[in-house]
Amino acid sequence: MATKLLLLFAICRLITIVGLTLNPTDLFQFGIHGQLSTDAHDIKSASVDFGKLTHSEPLAVLHPSSTSDVAKLLRLAYESTHGFVVSARGHGHSINGQSQTNNNGVVVQMTGLGKTTVVVNENMMYVDVWGGELWIDVLKSTLRYGLAPKSWTDYLYLSVGGTLSNAGISGQAFNHGPQISNVHEMDVVTGRGDILTCSMDHNQELFHSVLGGLGQFGIITRARIALEPSPQMVRWIRVLYSNFSAFTHDQEYLISLHDRPQSQKFDYIEGFVIVDEGLINNWRSSFFSPNNPVKITSLGAGGNVLYCLEITKNYHKGADPEAVDQEVEALLKKLNYIPASMFTTDLPYVDFLDRVHTAELKLRSKGLWEVPHPWLNLFVPKSRIHDFDKGVFKGILGNKTSGPILIYPMNKNKWDDRSSVVTPNEDVFYLVALLRSALDNGEETLTLKHLSDENRKILNFCKESKIEVKQYLPHYTTQKEWMDHYGDKWSQISRRKLEFDPRHILATGQRIFEPSF
Ligand code: FAD
Repeated sequence: MATKLLLLFAICRLITIVGLTLNPTDLFQFGIHGQLSTDAHDIKSASVDFGKLTHSEPLAVLHPSSTSDVAKLLRLAYESTHGFVVSARGHGHSINGQSQTNNNGVVVQMTGLGKTTVVVNENMMYVDVWGGELWIDVLKSTLRYGLAPKSWTDYLYLSVGGTLSNAGISGQAFNHGPQISNVHEMDVVTGRGDILTCSMDHNQELFHSVLGGLGQFGIITRARIALEPSPQMVRWIRVLYSNFSAFTHDQEYLISLHDRPQSQKFDYIEGFVIVDEGLINNWRSSFFSPNNPVKITSLGAGGNVLYCLEITKNYHKGADPEAVDQEVEALLKKLNYIPASMFTTDLPYVDFLDRVHTAELKLRSKGLWEVPHPWLNLFVPKSRIHDFDKGVFKGILGNKTSGPILIYPMNKNKWDDRSSVVTPNEDVFYLVALLRSALDNGEETLTLKHLSDENRKILNFCKESKIEVKQYLPHYTTQKEWMDHYGDKWSQISRRKLEFDPRHILATGQRIFEPSF
């Protein structure tokens, strides 16, 4: 009863503010069984995100109990005279308010459904999950069957719907493609309030639209994700380079082995840039423990930029240790890293996949997690990565970064061009991720203003040097910038919007389309 009253109150408030022409006594007919909340705590948490750069309070927050609740809300938004906007919110780990709404909107809080929604099909090797499920929980459930998804993000406390709305990338992408290349089927609620099941064969336009679609075309309530037999252990290796050409040559060589049998390639290929000696505040640095025999400073980089290649080899618990050593050695001997700069450790697969969470807990304990994050993620075409190195890593950044800088190449043929994501027009492109944390500790180079200015300088440098980067997890404030971002794909994106969300109700926090009411 309390829930029903709360729902009545919330919808009445919605009606007062957006001026819907509905009779409050009819409200229970909507039959939304979840909780529509105007509770201060709910409003507050839906108005911020990981970036801590924007703040926008919604009118109400829906905690749906099913796909049908989401559909009823969207149908109401679509059919009402004045309309209101609706954004799905996964775990709110966006940077620039992408899952927020204005004060006339409802945020659908997709996490915390309160019941298990992970259904594994062992024979067909897939898992069906609720769109708000966190990847860490998907992993824990599938491991009970000895199975795991193939493609990951570095951090697992992100929702399935949130990463599939972007792409979902990590060191497995060179081999398996991004997470959006590993989805068989989805249930989606469109901006018209229709519930549609879509796949490569059925409602395929919606399927491709939603993958990488930045929440513009529908809310993903179920995704069917491909699984593989899970390894139990990982050999995790890091080697250092002072020469950028040698580093990128080796990364590109390793990703070119993607079609080889598993024994002849690594399972994960990433890398990062070390521009400041101490790797201070770098949540990737914990690996370099005091027990490592070689100190980074002793490697003779002389204050210059270093590059770290990060690779893994998966194996099963009963595997012959010599066979694992041989496979790794055969691959490593083709590489040109600094001799004696190898760091290696063996650990359980789950611990490897969940590695960033370990770093998160450390940062949280020091009060360094809940800070503003002016992140910049770019896809850089392979042909210009050296210019980027010179201009940005060895130029604009100076010797301070305020967080990890990831850099790794991916094969474009593992991405489906029919999805809504845009990537550079070359067979190989790099992710460069500047994952910075702004601090207010008196150091000018760590302030939000300094880091945001630096991001602008990097984007300007790319523009002036005609390096055709594409932003990943993009953020723009004008439609003109979005049109440039999508390039040739813009007409397709506009057409898809017209078909699936004609009133521009969905995910307005992305600032691509203005609501049409
Ligand atoms: P939210 O921030 O809640 O939402 C993001 C967007 O998706 C919003 O527009 C929202 O409306 C929409 N959306 C959310 N759920 C749905 C749904 N069910 N249906 C339709 N639209 C929906 N990304 C990578 O690719 N690789 C990484 O390794 C990686 N590491 C990260 C590490 C950290 C610490 C953080 C904070 C982020 C990282 N990201 C990474 C970025 C992350 O993938 C995106 O920010 C993603 O959007 C976060 O998911 P979320 O559930 O928090 O989404």
